This record gives sequence, structure tokens and C-alpha cells, in this order.
Amino acid sequence: MKLHILKAYTFLILTSLLFLNCKGDAKKDNGKLNIVTTTSMITDLVHNIAGDAINLQGLMGSGVDPHLYKASEGDVSKLANADIIFYNGIHLEGKLVEVFEKMQHQNINTIAIANAIDHNTLISSSFFPGNYDPHIWFNIDYWQQATQFIVEELSEAIPEHKATFQANGAIYASKLNTLKANIISIIETLPEEKRILVTAHDAFSYFGRAFGFEVVGLQGLSTATEAGVQDVQRLAAFIIEKDVKAIFVESSVPKRTIEALEAAVNSKGHKVTIGGTLYSDALGNAGTVEGTYIGMFEYNVNTIVNALK
Ligand SMILES: [Zn+2]
Repeated sequence: MKLHILKAYTFLILTSLLFLNCKGDAKKDNGKLNIVTTTSMITDLVHNIAGDAINLQGLMGSGVDPHLYKASEGDVSKLANADIIFYNGIHLEGKLVEVFEKMQHQNINTIAIANAIDHNTLISSSFFPGNYDPHIWFNIDYWQQATQFIVEELSEAIPEHKATFQANGAIYASKLNTLKANIISIIETLPEEKRILVTAHDAFSYFGRAFGFEVVGLQGLSTATEAGVQDVQRLAAFIIEKDVKAIFVESSVPKRTIEALEAAVNSKGHKVTIGGTLYSDALGNAGTVEGTYIGMFEYNVNTIVNALK
């Protein structure tokens, strides 16, 4: 009961702060705009483009699951003081959508990165007609489009730094080209019939489509629904049939579902191992190589290829 009251109170504070925000002018701190981002992938991208031309605050750190993420009290003041909020969209940040929609109605600049992508090219959700797979960062071409989109949005908001944003965007786009070439050459070392990726939830479909992997997640596109016994048995049968050598846990999803799958496969006399932890919906720790989008991508692909060989 107390928790409900606290939640209601937090919501009241949030809505009143949002109301105050819509009345005020853009809040600048030391002359810089306050930019808030949701996932660590988006934080990393905006940082690469804007550097120290903005005040940047990311809401979600390493190991954080965006599907289940709720705004904390600390987030409330970050959001209320934001000039621009960049978020993924297409229902990735399931619990924040309501907050962002409210902000849009109050003319706060909330920008969904997914708007950079032609929705006709997105993978449809088989469970929710009309919805799309939100894990767009696993297609490097999409991330290139997101880079250009953020350059344009920031240039419009802060025209005095347009040249910097464009230059940084071009440098980063070229790094993404190099990344893509590296990924392709790493994957070429893995025989085609071994390119089967089994993970905790359906985060890697764009990766699979781009790089020729068959991808199967134990849970669906969101982690909000738990995998059932039938899902585990069905996937265990698939792993045995395809003779898959390794399956993978994800840094932002509890291990237990993949461990249950490992046990189900091994109980049938087939050996499957956990090939490592992949970064799916969050980067690694800030300050590490895996704490960047490029480092995360290379780490994931090396982990996958080494375990499946
Ligand atoms: Zn996900």
C-alpha cells in the first residue's frame, strides 16, 4: 500500500515538473543544452557526435534492461531539465513510453531514433501485429542512418555547432564502415552451417538478417514475458536437431532461462555449453572497450564465433 502511495507521489512530482518545464525556456547549463538519452547505445552514439558541446546524461547503464526500465526519482529531475531526449522508440522502452508521450504533448523535444529508419524495412513482430522489432542497433546500416539523423537533429537545435556535429558524424560513420568490414571478416571464419545463434530473448534478429545467422530467442521481442516450459522444450529439441554447440546469456537478462535450456538439452544426452555473455540491450561498463557500441559489437561477434566454431 505504501509503495502505491509512493508511486503515485512520484508520478505527481514528475507531472508537475514536466508542467513547469513546458512553461520555461530551454534550460542551459554553462551555455550547453541538456541532452538526455535512454539506452547506453544511444548515449554512446550521441557522445560520439556531440562530444562536450552538450551536457549529456544517459538514463540506463550497463546491465540495464530497457524493456522493463522504470523512471527513478533521479531520472525525474534529469527528464524535467532536458532540452532534448533521444530514445529508441518502437516500444523498446516499454515503461517510459507514457512519460515520453506526455512530454511530447507539452512540446518537449523527445526524439525517437527509430524514426530515422524506414519502417517498411523493419522486422515485424509476430506476436503483436503492427509492431516492429525495436533492436535496430544490431543492423550497422541502421546505426549509420541513426548517426546522420542525430547529426541533423542536433544541428537544428544547436546551429552554432553544426560543423562539429557534421565532422564528428562523418568520422563516426567511417568507423562504422570499418566495424562492418571487420565483423564480416570475423564471421567468414565460421562455417555457414554453424551460424545459429540461440540467446535469452529475440534481440539479434537484425544481426541475423544482416550477417547470415539463424537467430532464435527463448523469450520474445520483449523480456516482459517469461519463457515457459514449452518454450524451453521446443528450443532444446531445435538445438539437438541442429547440433548447436553453444548458447548465450545476455548481460541485461537473468541467466536462469538459458541455464534451464542448457539443462534441458544436456538431460537428453546432447552436450551444449553456455558460450558466454552477449551485450544485447545494454553496453558493457562505461570506460571499458565493451562500454562502446563498436567495442560491444566486436566483443559479441568474437564471443559468438569462438563458441560456435
Ligand atoms: Zn530486447
